[in-house]
Formats: sequence, C-alpha cells, structure tokens
Amino acid sequence: MSILVTGGAGYVGSHTVAELVQKGEDVVVIDNLSTGHRNAVLNEWAIPFYQCDIHDTARVMKVMTDHHVDSVVHFAASSLVAESVHDPLKYYANNLGGTRALLDAMVSCDVASIVLSSTAAVYGSPRRVPISEDANKEPLNPYGETKLAIERMLSYAQQAYGISSVSLRYFNAAGAHPTLPIGEDHRPESHLIPIILQVVLGQRDEILIYGDDYETRDGTCIRDYIHVCDLASAHYLAVSHLREGNTGSYAFNLGNGSGFSVREVIDCVRAISEHPVPALVAPRRAGDPAQLVGDASLAQSVLGWKPTRKDLTQIVADAWRWHRTHPDGYQG
Ligand code: UDP
Repeated sequence: MSILVTGGAGYVGSHTVAELVQKGEDVVVIDNLSTGHRNAVLNEWAIPFYQCDIHDTARVMKVMTDHHVDSVVHFAASSLVAESVHDPLKYYANNLGGTRALLDAMVSCDVASIVLSSTAAVYGSPRRVPISEDANKEPLNPYGETKLAIERMLSYAQQAYGISSVSLRYFNAAGAHPTLPIGEDHRPESHLIPIILQVVLGQRDEILIYGDDYETRDGTCIRDYIHVCDLASAHYLAVSHLREGNTGSYAFNLGNGSGFSVREVIDCVRAISEHPVPALVAPRRAGDPAQLVGDASLAQSVLGWKPTRKDLTQIVADAWRWHRTHPDGYQG
C-alpha cells in the first residue's frame, strides 16, 4: 500500500512527503514541475518520483497500479490568487479539470480515498472570526472558487463512486522544515513572510504594506499563520482517518486560531533577523479580506491534530533559517 502525492515537489507538498516518509509510509510523488522543484523531493528519501501531469490519466493509472496506491494526497494545482483573477480559465483547467482527470484514474484503479489541499479562500470575506467550517462560502476569486468546486466534486464522487475525502482548508502556510533543506520558493514570490525576508537579504529595498486603513487593531490585515510542518502532520492524520474506514466527505480548517497583523509580522521578522526592515504603505491589494482567522477545533477533535509550532516567532525563525541558508531557494 502506498500513498500517491500529487504536487509533492511544491511547498506544502514536499513538507507533507517528509512527514509521510518519517512515519514510515511508502510514498510516490508525481509533479509536472510547472511550479514545484525537483530537489524539494530529497534524494535521501529514496522514493519514486514521476514528472507527470495529473491530466495524463493513463500515466497516473500506471503509477497507481505499479505502486499499489490506496490513498492520494492531492496538492497539484495552481494557487496564486492574483493570477487566478487575471487568468481564471487556467484555474478552471488545472484545478477543476486536473482533479476531474485524477478522479477518473482513481475510479479506474479502485483508489477510494483522497486528501485535498484546500484553502480558507473558500470562505471569502468572513462575517465572523474565528471561522468555523460551516461559515458561508463565498470565494472572492477564481482560486477559492475552483477549490470550493473541487470540494463539492469530491462530495458527489463519494456518493457516486464511493471515493471518500478529507479537504483541508489551510489558513496562511508559513515557515520551513526545522531540520531538512526544504522550504518556500515561489516564483514570483507573493507571500508576506518570504517577501519580508527578501528585504532582509537585500533582494528588495522595502516591504509594501497593502493597506493600513482596514478595521483592525493597527489598520493592516490580520492573518492566521500556520507552520507548514503542522499542515503536513494534518495530512498524515487525514490519510489515517480514511484508512481507518471513515467513509464520507470531510472538511477541516487548519489554523492556529490567533491572528497577526501585517505590521506585527514585520516587527517579528525585524526581531528575529535583527535587521531594520523598511516598510512603505501602499494601496490595498484587490480581494484581500481584513481578517482571516481559523477555528480548527474540529480537526483537533476528529483527527486528533495538535499543532506543535504555534508561536509566530518559531514560524518566522524557521522561515528565516531556510531563506538565510538558501537565498536563491532551490536554485542555490
Ligand atoms: N501583504 C503585504 N505586502 C506584501 C505581501 C502581502 O502587505 O508584499 C499582506 C497581504 O495584503 C495580506 C497578508 O500580507 O493581508 C498576507 O498575504 P499573503 O499573500 O502572504 O497571503 P494571503 O493572505 O493573501 O493568502
């Protein structure tokens, strides 16, 4: 029995592969390397890697059969909010079309469980924080819209084909593995913590704060930053939950339940890096809700998930260690 990880060369994907390998699971990775990095799948793991697109159903089926796959953890997707607004059809094709093709392969190969990398973007601008799973789902952009559509597709696939699923709705993934040489490397980078660290590294002159006139304690947006290794451990627990025979379509929030403003994150990076980070206020970024903070009590009670790196200082310290030692990311 092995676990197929699609998009295993990406940021959360590679940290999840690390967790699964550490738990002694047999893992096989496919990734088309459009945004992932081949060397994020470490040689020391000695696991099969296929450069393969999830649309290639015949090849995905062969991988499933050859490796006796019983569970899929599905990261392969396009995941940039701004890009999704400019090129929505790419998101419908890659995210919805890609998952449809993957499900075709699962049905043909009798693979009956899947864990989906989903997102808090399915909620849009919440009426209340912290957000629980039953909050309204009104995505503000095609990225969130396609992830919500995938969740619904999975629910219909459960009713029709008996494929059980867990959708994990992440808040803001951050940090890096504390001991292994894997971390965040998006091109172009759009996420707050890596961008601030690029300022520290002298790769940018300043950090632009997108809006300081929100209704928050200091006027800047508040987000729930969750360590990528804590996200990874939830995927292992979700696979186990399905393997234990829990049939159905589940969805869980993954966050720490506490929010930090953009200014607080910048201050935290200044403290950890001991570097003055110049910051300029810029206009709001389209589609940014003022506050996103998750209530993850369901994942804790049902999956037994316990985030262990909740402290923002630790999250930033781990990110800083990765960026300091890999200033050019995986190209370094
Ligand atoms: N942000 C910012 N400057 C940047 C990048 C991000 O002020 O250069 C803000 C962004 O507006 C949001 C928060 O930082 O309020 C987190 O943004 P990120 O892109 O990391 O994650 P998102 O919340 O969009 O998923």
